[in-house]
Amino acid sequence: MRLSRYFLPVLKENPAEAQIVSHRLMLRAGMIKQQSAGIYSWLPLGFKVLRKIEDIVHDEQIRAGHIPMQMPTLQTADLWRESGRYDAYGPEMLRMKDRHDRDMLFSPTAEEMFTDVFRAHVSSYKDLPLTLYQIQWKFRDEVRPRFGVMRGREFYMKDGYNFDLTKEDALHAYNRHLVSYLRTYERMGLQAIPMRADSGPIGGDDTHEFLVLAETGESEVFYDAQITDLTFGDREIDYDDRAACQGVLEEFTSRYARTDETHDEAAFNEVPEERRRVARGIEVGQIFYFGTKYSEAMNATVVDSEGNKVPVHMGSHGIGVSRLLGAIIEANHDDNGIIWPEGVTPFHVGIVNLKQGDEEADAACEALYKEFEAAGLEPLYDDRKERAGGKFATMDLIGLPWRITVGPRGLKNGVVELTSRRTGESVELSPADAVAKIK
Ligand code: ATP
Ligand code: MG
Ligand code: MG
Ligand code: MG
Repeated sequence: MRLSRYFLPVLKENPAEAQIVSHRLMLRAGMIKQQSAGIYSWLPLGFKVLRKIEDIVHDEQIRAGHIPMQMPTLQTADLWRESGRYDAYGPEMLRMKDRHDRDMLFSPTAEEMFTDVFRAHVSSYKDLPLTLYQIQWKFRDEVRPRFGVMRGREFYMKDGYNFDLTKEDALHAYNRHLVSYLRTYERMGLQAIPMRADSGPIGGDDTHEFLVLAETGESEVFYDAQITDLTFGDREIDYDDRAACQGVLEEFTSRYARTDETHDEAAFNEVPEERRRVARGIEVGQIFYFGTKYSEAMNATVVDSEGNKVPVHMGSHGIGVSRLLGAIIEANHDDNGIIWPEGVTPFHVGIVNLKQGDEEADAACEALYKEFEAAGLEPLYDDRKERAGGKFATMDLIGLPWRITVGPRGLKNGVVELTSRRTGESVELSPADAVAKIK
């Protein structure tokens, strides 16, 4: 992409309404524009990162054997009356009527609708196990929408639902989700710690939330410092191997890690004092096992191997896709702007032409641009006739991992400058070596 032809409305001033750094930087970098409280337009740069995050989520869900599909955002109230949640859900649910006076709502989550699809088409245990999921806009009329996309009213969420014959099978689905979530967050350059949590309006017994540690997080968290040494890394996992998935669950949940909702002072005090940590965290996902709560209420049954009709065991599993942008920026920024982890960066490299219009500099930039594209990388070329200082400030603000600076003076010696956004280190090398370094 050439910046002269892109739409990147960066702001010079700090927006007064933004209380936390990720919100401030997303507005300044021209990623989002607020339309009303908690409702945002996703401008091209923000939309690009949102898509990258969504791609990783899809990739890891499909790897775990889960099946993508799409539900409507609007639902009829009738389904929710069946589960008993229409009245129970409260003012977070946005309710409306259609022209025939039918009660409708904007989906805040979709247990009912997935259960409805399941019961319409599945009737035998032979079709299990089954995990269906979607990535779709949700609406919750939050009391205090704030912190930009972190607590929006309209937000983008991955929600998945497992349908299993037995509790044991459903707990394996739970474990698969835990493993796939660990992989998902790590690919985004995040450490998200599974913590024992409270099930809230979804209901159920087993649940973990995934929290990214950050001072601006809304949850208070209590944990054993040892947990931050754990990483899933690039180990291979067979998602059908129950013992292996269970092993990962045990490894990542055996140390004390809880949110304020389930915190137990006595149990926490058993952690050696020097390892006890009290901090804040951002909830970026949650997994639940809730058994037959919805399948019984909504009559979602299968015939088992002995011919008996039994309600299926279910769970639901969410990832806050749009919230993740905020969480990633909270964990990756400095005074000059965002520092994107490689896995989610909107462009791989920025090319800054110090003297636009200089024949040699222009040609060198064009050549670099073509080489990156040929290598399957996305460059962002600042080809505007602007001061170098302004170009650097924009590149720092939008946080691409690499910057290549090209000017007539360097080119006389056959070199360009390659700068790492994260370390700030610069080296001079030939254009070919610069390309090789980034590839
Ligand atoms: P919170 O405790 O922050 O209100 P939640 O527990 O109500 O979140 P879940 O029902 O567990 O949310 O939804 C799954 C995920 O969706 C959450 O882990 C979070 O990452 C994301 N999410 C929930 N509410 C919002 C929101 N208002 N804005 C952005 N993301 C959200
Ligand atoms: Mg909530
Ligand atoms: Mg929560
Ligand atoms: Mg939650």
